[in-house]
Amino acid sequence: MSQALDCLAADGEALPLAAGTDLVPVLRDRAMDRARLVDLHGLKELDYIRFEDGMLRIGAMATHQSIAASDKVKEMLPALAHACSQVGSAQIRRRATIGGNVCHASPAADTLPVLIAAEACAVTRSKEFRKTVLLEQFITGVKTTSLPQDSLLEEIIILIPEGGWKGNYYRLGGRNALTIAISSVAVLKGSRGIRAAYGSMGPTVKRIGAVEEYLNSCREAKRSILRVLAEQNLSPISDIRATREYRLDVAANFTWLGYRELAE
Ligand SMILES: Cc1cc2nc3c(=O)[nH]c(=O)nc-3n(C[C@H](O)[C@H](O)[C@H](O)COP(=O)(O)OP(=O)(O)OC[C@H]3O[C@@H](n4cnc5c(N)ncnc54)[C@H](O)[C@@H]3O)c2cc1C
Repeated sequence: MSQALDCLAADGEALPLAAGTDLVPVLRDRAMDRARLVDLHGLKELDYIRFEDGMLRIGAMATHQSIAASDKVKEMLPALAHACSQVGSAQIRRRATIGGNVCHASPAADTLPVLIAAEACAVTRSKEFRKTVLLEQFITGVKTTSLPQDSLLEEIIILIPEGGWKGNYYRLGGRNALTIAISSVAVLKGSRGIRAAYGSMGPTVKRIGAVEEYLNSCREAKRSILRVLAEQNLSPISDIRATREYRLDVAANFTWLGYRELAE
């Protein structure tokens, strides 16, 4: 890891490369054929899933396949195992990393709704500093993060409540595999109540305080109210895959479903 950080510090234009499933298409589209890359592939020290001091720690180089298959993740944050099982195809999941998914910061990234609902933090490293930042703040816009060029994402940490995070991740795509989420929602329950975070519904994945307040205080959640709250707090686009209204309907329905499943 220190060698990779040295390389990034020495060359202000170098980019970290994990599995390249996001980065390589970006480089190709922008014709950045002379981009200098720091290949992280051999960094086995960042490929781990651990439970320590009440926290789930997932190294940036852990693959979607290993997270989806992890007994620890299935026990403590099953929604994340499910989200990782939904990414791309078996080939993509075997290579692609959680670090790449988080750092690419796509509004449609499948791990982000669960991580943000679970109040996960990103741990970053440069030659001099190690910093911990709430993931919701780490992601600053569409495919942008606050990570400085000379730094790496080292790990994701998630505080696990007594009994683990309950709840699930719901995503709708145009078909079952190899498809970007049209709308995705994580509805989780921890020691401080229900959390709901939304993907593909605006420039960044985000929690909605008004929805969480409603779900935590109502006797029985109503779809119509969730639809109004979605309309007021989310800003999805209309594009070739779905209209804005359809995405709002799906997000409200998924939230309702998540609430009902938590109540069962
Ligand atoms: C066919 C196909 C299907 C896909 N389907 C899905 C899908 O269903 N859901 C989904 O969410 N994504 C999907 N993706 C996108 C992609 O596979 C994931 O986002 C994946 O997790 C990216 O990981 P990677 O290791 O390939 O990252 P890379 O492409 O290597 O890197 C992505 C970005 O993160 C940076 N980066 C990587 N690791 C670090 C680190 N440790 N520290 C700092 N910066 C870092 C890179 O510089 C780059 O900017 C798909 C991609 C393809 C090609």
